[in-house]
Amino acid sequence: MADQVRSQDAERSDGWRPDTVAVAAGRPAPEPGAPLNQPLVLASNFRSAPPGETVGEYSRNNGTPGWAALESAVGALEGGRAVAFGSGMAAVAAVTDDLTVGARVVVPVDSYQVVRGLLQDGTEQGRWHVDAVDITDTAAVVAAVDGADLLWLESPSNPLMEVADLPALCAAGRAAGARVAVDNTFATPLLQRPLDLGADVVVHSATKFLGGHSDLLLGVAVARDDAEYARLYRRRVLSGGTPGALEAFLTLRGIRTLAVRVERAQESAGVLAARLAAHPAVERVRYPGLPGDPGHQRAAAQMTGFGAMLSFEVAGGAAAGDAVVAAVRLITAATSLGGVESTIERRAKLAGQEHIPPGLLRLSVGIEHVEDLWADLLAGLDAAAAAR
Ligand SMILES: *Cc1c(COP(=O)(O)O)cnc(C)c1O
Repeated sequence: MADQVRSQDAERSDGWRPDTVAVAAGRPAPEPGAPLNQPLVLASNFRSAPPGETVGEYSRNNGTPGWAALESAVGALEGGRAVAFGSGMAAVAAVTDDLTVGARVVVPVDSYQVVRGLLQDGTEQGRWHVDAVDITDTAAVVAAVDGADLLWLESPSNPLMEVADLPALCAAGRAAGARVAVDNTFATPLLQRPLDLGADVVVHSATKFLGGHSDLLLGVAVARDDAEYARLYRRRVLSGGTPGALEAFLTLRGIRTLAVRVERAQESAGVLAARLAAHPAVERVRYPGLPGDPGHQRAAAQMTGFGAMLSFEVAGGAAAGDAVVAAVRLITAATSLGGVESTIERRAKLAGQEHIPPGLLRLSVGIEHVEDLWADLLAGLDAAAAAR
C-alpha cells in the first residue's frame, strides 16, 4: 500500500518545490471520479489474498491507505521514507528501542525534556549509557561521539533555541559508526531537511507544526534508506505504537497549509524577536534569525528560514516571567506549540529543566496579526515591570 502511493508521489512530484509538495503529495491516484483527498480510513482488517499472493491484511502489520498517504507526503517533504506513530515520543522510542544493551548514546543537554527522561530511565534500567553534551560545542560533540551507537540531535533546540552544526555532526556521527537521528520538530521539513545534511533518521512530533491546530497527537520517523526504514517499521509492528486513523487524516490535512502557516508565523516571529530584543525590560532573546544570535550563522547555512519559535528572558527572573504569562490575553499560557494560536510557557517550572534560566519564556508564534501579538506582549511586559 505504502509503496504504491510513494512511487506515485515520486513520479508526480519531480522538481516541485517543498510548498507544492506539501499540497500535492499523498493524494489518491488521479483517476476520473476519484476523491481529491485520501478519505478517512477506519479499518484494522483487510481481506486476505488467494494462496500465492500477498496483500496487507492487518493495519498494525501493514498500515492503511490513510497512514500511507500521510507517510508518503512526509517522506516526500523530508526526502526519505516515513513511518507514522501514535505520538512524537512513540517515534522517538522507535529509534531508541533498536539500541542493544550497553549501547552509548550522545544527546544534547538542551533537548526535549521527555526525550531526556526516556534516556534517563533507560540509563537507570542499565540499558545504555548516556553522554549529555553542549550541542553548540562541535569539537566536544565530535569527541563524545567516538564509540557511540546513537547521536541524538535537536536543532533548533527546545527551549534554548540552540543550533547544532548539523552537516559537521552528522558526518562525525556517521564516521564514528553511530546512527544519527535529528528531531526536526521546531524547523519543519520546509525549513530544514536533516537527511540532506547527513542524518540517518528524522523524527517529528507532528502534534506541533505538521498537524498545526493543537487537536491531535501523532509522530513520524523518516528514514534515509530502506534498511533504516525496515528497522523503524518493525518497531511499530512490535511496539504497537500506531497512529489513530483520524489523527493521520488530520495531520495530512494540516500539512496542506503548512507552508502558509509557517511563512506567516515565521515572519511574525522575526518581528517580535527584534522588538523584544530592543525592549528595556528584556534581558535576552534567543532566536536564530537575529543577526547577533550565537546560532545565526549556522542556522542561515543549514535552514531556509528561522522558524516560528523563540525564547526570551525578562528582567526579574521567574516572578517576572510568571507575571508576563499571567498578563497576556491573546497568547495562551500552554505547554504545547506549533499551532495556529500563539502559546507561551515558563519552561524552568518543569522538572528536569534545571539548565534553563528560571525566567525564560518560550513563545510559539501563531498566525494571529503580529500587531495584536505585540500589543499583548507589551501588556505582559508592563505587568512584569509593575510586579517588580
Ligand atoms: C512535543 C515534542 C516531542 C514529543 O512529541 P509528542 O507528540 O508530544 O509525543 C518531541 N520533540 C520535540 C522537540 C517536541 O516539541
